[in-house]
Amino acid sequence: MRLRNIPGSREAIAASGWCIQEPEKARGGWNHIFGNEHPIHIEIGMGKGQFLIQLAKENPQINYIGIEKYSSVLLRALQKLEEDPLENVRFIRMDAEELCQVFGRGEVSRIYLNFSDPWPKDRHAKRRLTSRQFFTRYHEILAAGGRVEFKTDNTALFEFSLEEVTAAGWRLDDFTRDLHHDPVMREGNIMTEYEERFSALGNPIHKLVASPYSISVTLAGESPSR
Ligand code: SAM
Repeated sequence: MRLRNIPGSREAIAASGWCIQEPEKARGGWNHIFGNEHPIHIEIGMGKGQFLIQLAKENPQINYIGIEKYSSVLLRALQKLEEDPLENVRFIRMDAEELCQVFGRGEVSRIYLNFSDPWPKDRHAKRRLTSRQFFTRYHEILAAGGRVEFKTDNTALFEFSLEEVTAAGWRLDDFTRDLHHDPVMREGNIMTEYEERFSALGNPIHKLVASPYSISVTLAGESPSR
């Protein structure tokens, strides 16, 4: 999602208490930001925040962090949160490539990826948020029992993602190529902005849920306390 550059969006984000400035300083201490020990779920590439904000309203016992690369897009999510504040939500403007500088080992319990950019050229495959390179980053920050949930209407990206789950050494917990007609997986589904747009065109929505096999394996030189 690219919006026209909105003048003042960077400044509005820098001045907002809902947006975490210098998020790398919170690494390992995100629970202090929220003032509780609730699990932390993140959405990467949240766009204007419709999905994350609805999820946060329905689950006050979970802390949610929305990550978005572009200020002009994040500003739209920020405006929604300012109109209808939720104590369990924070935003970060950042590129997901920096995830491991911002979250410590095992600090995140769930990662949502919704309608991620497809990066159709082969040479850009590692930029896709479901590439094996990104699964390696997710493994580093996920807590035991943590998982990734990914939705898209892009069939090529979905097939690529299914392959990458295996290539990354992860377990495919569940998947469907038609979420809205899957009696089990559609349960409690919250639509994103892109999901509303593309399903209205008749596109089936694909979803996968994946988790690392070796989440409890002790990493070299670390205590097995995750
Ligand atoms: N998730 C929303 C939805 O489903 O309606 C928005 C989908 S939009 C196609 C993808 C969003 O991900 C865009 O807002 C884009 O700026 C953001 N994005 C893409 N790559 C990113 C990255 N590496 N780090 C953070 N955000 C990213």
